[in-house]
Amino acid sequence: MNQSEPSSSTDFVRTIINEDMSTDKYGGRVHTRFPPEPNGYLHIGHAKSICLNFGVAAEYGGISNVRFDDTNPSKEETEYVESILEDVHWLGFDWDDRLFYASDYFDQLYEYAVQLIKNGKAYVCDLSSAEIRTYRGTLTEPGKNSPYRDRSVEENLDLFESMRAGEFPDGLRTLRARIDMASPNITMRDPVLYRIMNVPHHRTGDEWVIYPTYDFTHCLSDSIEGITHSLCTLEFENNRPLYDWVLDQLQVFHPQQIEFARLNLSYTVLSKRKLLQLVEAGIVDGWDDPRMPTLSGLRRRGYTPQAIRDFCYHIGVSKTNSIIDIALLEHFIRKDLNQRAPRVLGVLRPLRVVITNYPEGQVEELEAINNPEDETMGTRKVPFSSVLYIEQDDFREVPPPKYRRLIPGREVRLRYGYFITCVDFIKDEKTGEIVELHCTYDPETRGGNAPDGRKVKATLHWVSAAHAIEVETRLYDRLFLANNPDDVEEGLDFKSNLNPNSIEILKGCFVEQSLAEASPGRTYQFERQGYFCVDPIASQNGKLVFNRTISLRDSWAKIAKKNPI
Ligand code: ATP
Ligand code: MG
Repeated sequence: MNQSEPSSSTDFVRTIINEDMSTDKYGGRVHTRFPPEPNGYLHIGHAKSICLNFGVAAEYGGISNVRFDDTNPSKEETEYVESILEDVHWLGFDWDDRLFYASDYFDQLYEYAVQLIKNGKAYVCDLSSAEIRTYRGTLTEPGKNSPYRDRSVEENLDLFESMRAGEFPDGLRTLRARIDMASPNITMRDPVLYRIMNVPHHRTGDEWVIYPTYDFTHCLSDSIEGITHSLCTLEFENNRPLYDWVLDQLQVFHPQQIEFARLNLSYTVLSKRKLLQLVEAGIVDGWDDPRMPTLSGLRRRGYTPQAIRDFCYHIGVSKTNSIIDIALLEHFIRKDLNQRAPRVLGVLRPLRVVITNYPEGQVEELEAINNPEDETMGTRKVPFSSVLYIEQDDFREVPPPKYRRLIPGREVRLRYGYFITCVDFIKDEKTGEIVELHCTYDPETRGGNAPDGRKVKATLHWVSAAHAIEVETRLYDRLFLANNPDDVEEGLDFKSNLNPNSIEILKGCFVEQSLAEASPGRTYQFERQGYFCVDPIASQNGKLVFNRTISLRDSWAKIAKKNPI
């Protein structure tokens, strides 16, 4: 567990906390919470919120809770609760014994609502939801008072109790705060606090037929838990006056709500509602499809918690919405895997090579470096023999300009091996496809250098045909073609921007023998091809399936050179 990676600078959130510390507003305490609604799997945007909440708390010697904001029973499920907890842990954070559910507070919230009614600050309203909308007014026009606004306290108490007792059908009545229908902030125009919903709840079953709204629940849950700083995204800025109003009316412990900009990533949608559409329409293979920006998808793809945390700390928090370049996230996973991932040889699209002057049946063990970035990872042996596979792309009969790899008559190096020269090639008569190369090797060049100092222009990866293991690899591209998938013409939705080629499945790939024991979730660098992670679900019964986490070329490094960050 690493909960306190330092933030690089003092941002506006930490400035507020520093001030609260200096005025002793909360007795030196910092207590935050991560409050997911269990209506989908967590995505990389939630990671930003988790890192911020847990990170800030740890920096100030404080603590952070996880609280399920489960006030909307129709969309919530236990499956989501379980995946969310798994993902928070995986990301490297721990709530100890501080796991809470807003639904645990339903009794208490009901009592608070009764209190508001008694104080003349809430009333039961018989307007339908459409009527409430009409009465609410607009940004330029004030709203109109509900005809039910001046009910007596007794009548309100009686009706609210009947609501709770299930005496009315869904939507017939609501409990509303009695604030100000002329407020310039529409949120403050007598917002709904409770609605009737005859829907069983994933935790409280059918104990309740009325459910509190987010606005009423959130501030009070924060208060009950003694949260000091309630960090949320910018769209709740207009709700802050209501957050404060409820707590002030009830005169309970009063946390400070602070809003920050949510994470938006290019070529990505970060909305559980939209991600659910992709899952339900079968466009992706579940919430953990390696193309999904969910934490479970990124994990299956081979992303590490470290890389995601580093990314989140790097982007920091701000007050303005922007779209972060996905290349930046990719930069952080490359950076982390470069340190961590053992190098191996793997050929994605094999071309058979026969070394004609190498003794048939002979096998040599060549020494290969496991990670040039980390000497402690040592070396391993890779077998070399007279029949190899190289990448189809690494040979051209007629080379394009500047092609440095193998062509007829040219000499290249085999990684950790010998220099080889192509002396002949065989074509499939029907298709014209090149199916086999004949090469000679120079026994003097073992280890990759010629004693006479002659140079070659390319080093190719390869595997020994007799020793290699056949595997499947899955190569991924961005799920969306547009920088902002939500930017669509009228009548279309974000799905019109889907990339039809976001996955390419390659069967009949060959990897070196040492991967026979590769365990699910392990990530390797296939030299020259990128980072690959053993898919924990598709790899079964001796079949190995690798997801390409990311290719090797770091496009962010180039961008950053031009525009230093
Ligand atoms: P979505 O729009 O994906 O459904 P949400 O805001 O409804 O997200 P919640 O489960 O309510 O999802 O979010 C839990 C916490 O994570 C909230 O505090 C929310 O503000 C924060 N959060 C959600 N999305 C992002 C994001 N893209 N960037 C930063 N924080 C986010
Ligand atoms: Mg939400």
